Amino acid sequence: MSTIFTKIINREIPADIVYETETVLAFRDINPQAPVHVLIIPKIEIPKITDINGKEHSALLGEMYDAANKIAKEEGIAESGFRLVFNCGDNGGQEVYHIHMHLLGGRKMTWPPG
Ligand code: AMP
Repeated sequence: MSTIFTKIINREIPADIVYETETVLAFRDINPQAPVHVLIIPKIEIPKITDINGKEHSALLGEMYDAANKIAKEEGIAESGFRLVFNCGDNGGQEVYHIHMHLLGGRKMTWPPG
């Protein structure tokens, strides 16, 4: 089932888009948890990380990590460091069932996460 992220991909609802390729889109989180909080998503609909298949999706995942590195550089947080997070399912705290990588930075992260 499509989510609000498909509407962002299709420009049906607005988002603060910071990066786009043929396969990947990245935009600022509407409820930021750090000075830099960007969501990096594939344009194809994959609901959960448990739907990932290494053979089929390895290039796509590589592109998502490339996106994270490029955005981190553009946002000036590549050197200071940042955190990349995928939430999966209920216990993982996933709210939107279209996989997304959280890129968080611009402050010192705590560990363990809540
Ligand atoms: P998760 O809990 O990992 O599923 O993360 C979903 C994230 O999507 C949350 O951090 C939300 O703040 C964010 N979010 C939900 N709707 C939007 C939206 N329309 N634009 C940007 N971020 C959104």
